[in-house]
Amino acid sequence: MAVSGTPLAIVGARGRMGRALCALAAENGFALVAAIDQGDDLEGGLAACEVAIDFSAREVAPRVAGLMAQAGKPLVVGTTGLDEQGRAAIGAAAKRIPVVFAPNFSVGVNTLFWLVRKAASVLGEGFDIEIVEMHHNQKKDAPSGTAARLAEILCEARGLDPARDVRHGREGLVGARTRGEIGMHAVRGGDVVGDHTVHFASAGERLEVTHRASTRETFAHGALRAARWAIGQRPGLYSMEDVLGLRG
Ligand code: NAD
Repeated sequence: MAVSGTPLAIVGARGRMGRALCALAAENGFALVAAIDQGDDLEGGLAACEVAIDFSAREVAPRVAGLMAQAGKPLVVGTTGLDEQGRAAIGAAAKRIPVVFAPNFSVGVNTLFWLVRKAASVLGEGFDIEIVEMHHNQKKDAPSGTAARLAEILCEARGLDPARDVRHGREGLVGARTRGEIGMHAVRGGDVVGDHTVHFASAGERLEVTHRASTRETFAHGALRAARWAIGQRPGLYSMEDVLGLRG
């Protein structure tokens, strides 16, 4: 029997996210033509698809992007923790194909991005900002890609530089907190899928904005939605905020 749906390849298919994606592909209108993991034929699998989704490892995503760029087919990248070189490879691919690259594919987290951007500008410099994230004990990178994106957004809103002004954890005699820093804290334990809180604290009041993901299906649905959206877009580097129309 012929498979129906848009031919889709998933890289990292036997991982936590990969399994969720494989399970939901058909109901989102895709035919899973390649479920690729370590030891499988990456090139052959990608050749069979019309669009690919990568949730694998930081060493793998740049290679997937190169192959998809060569083939001229759209790509969704969910893998986090990429170094500068890895991000440059994704950027280079995006000159030739549409790439949706997002640290978090949930609708809720992308709404959180939008909310904290607004909150930082309304509350102003009188509010200290701290980011706290919690994930399961198997997560390899820290802080999470989502927390790093939150820091980027908040730095943009405050005119700060993420490389200079984000303070990762505190230990020892660190002295009083400065106005021009954003604190970042990564908590690990159990099976937590992904929690992110941004604390805005001033003398006299505190605002905390929290997102909690309770299932990986949330990210999988978002990534599949991004794959559908990417087909037919012009080459470029897109975020989930673009997919959801949350820009501007
Ligand atoms: P995981 O470790 O459970 O799965 C990763 C999979 O990639 C494994 O099955 C592994 O064997 C496979 N892999 C490794 N090398 C490979 C190769 N050369 N070719 C093909 N497959 C290979 O991890 P996970 O929890 O599924 O997360 C995967 C990535 O997605 C991580 O970077 C994680 O941070 C990220 N993530 C992103 C989002 C998001 O919304 N953007 C959400 C959850 C996780």
